[in-house]
Amino acid sequence: MKTALLITAFLASFVATLAAQASECTPITKRFAVDGTDLDKSTYQVTMQACKVNDADVVSLRRFKLKGEMFNWIVSSKTLQTGIIPEKCLKQCAGFDSNSQNKYANILTDSTRVPSPTAGAGIQKAKEVGPGQAEAFLTIDLCPSSKKLQTEIFERIQSGYMTNVPVALSVSGLWIKNHHDEFVYLLQLQDQKKINITWVNHSLTHPYDQTKGIEENFLLTPGIDFQREVLGNEMVMFSQGLVPSIFFRFPGLISSDKLIDQLKAWGLIPLGANAWLGKGQKIKNGSIVLVHGNGNELSGLTLLYKALEVQPQINATWTNLNQVYNSVTDKMESVPK
Ligand SMILES: [Zn+2]
Repeated sequence: MKTALLITAFLASFVATLAAQASECTPITKRFAVDGTDLDKSTYQVTMQACKVNDADVVSLRRFKLKGEMFNWIVSSKTLQTGIIPEKCLKQCAGFDSNSQNKYANILTDSTRVPSPTAGAGIQKAKEVGPGQAEAFLTIDLCPSSKKLQTEIFERIQSGYMTNVPVALSVSGLWIKNHHDEFVYLLQLQDQKKINITWVNHSLTHPYDQTKGIEENFLLTPGIDFQREVLGNEMVMFSQGLVPSIFFRFPGLISSDKLIDQLKAWGLIPLGANAWLGKGQKIKNGSIVLVHGNGNELSGLTLLYKALEVQPQINATWTNLNQVYNSVTDKMESVPK
């Protein structure tokens, strides 16, 4: 009991309080202090409005009442960084047009083209890699699992960095629900700036039946409520004080044109991978790398550790997923790592 209290106090000292930042119209981009009942789920709505916040272009994706005040979940049109902000801070809002010319509208359009493949739709790798630059994007899926979180990966990837290793974690609501202590462990790594987590929605229940073919499996399982799987998991993430990124990872990377169209209408980028290590794909410059951290596909982790032994420099190339669509020009302008 005493330890639990200490952990809570420790974590609380790092998280943003809503009141502190909300008054200045500064978007909250990291974890914020919340308890399970603060989000009024009955107010949760898709918005898709192009607005200004402090003169910056943003798109409001959702609105909801949090601790009695209306907040919006927004994405920066220029950087893909998401955040939450009081609704009163949004100015000059008009309907979002996916044909407008900015980074967010462009990646949304490019990543949701149909017809799309059933397996592996969405963004697969960096848009461009600059001359002499090496980068890769590490994504770790946390699908529901009865097995333990593979903490070793978080130790191993820190060896190439002093602090703040960029990692995208794709979380399912069911994993969070059944792995409380391991979830807190990840929050601690984030709060201590050991890893810099981009939180990716990986659906609420992540259905899977190993006896079924892909055409009727994962989110193509007959009777699945796609809205509940996507928006329902967003609400789980907000209820835990997480700010979801703009990415959505389809379970098994399996989707359909209908689901891709719906995802686009909700403003979300399907996150594929061209280096799913457990399937034998190799890491290349600019790869989105996919491994499972939930104990369900240990072969992928073994292959990652082996790759890091043979080519330890890979560990210094992990890049924040929000930069996956940067052009070479953006990269030259950005501050070197
Ligand atoms: Zn999964």
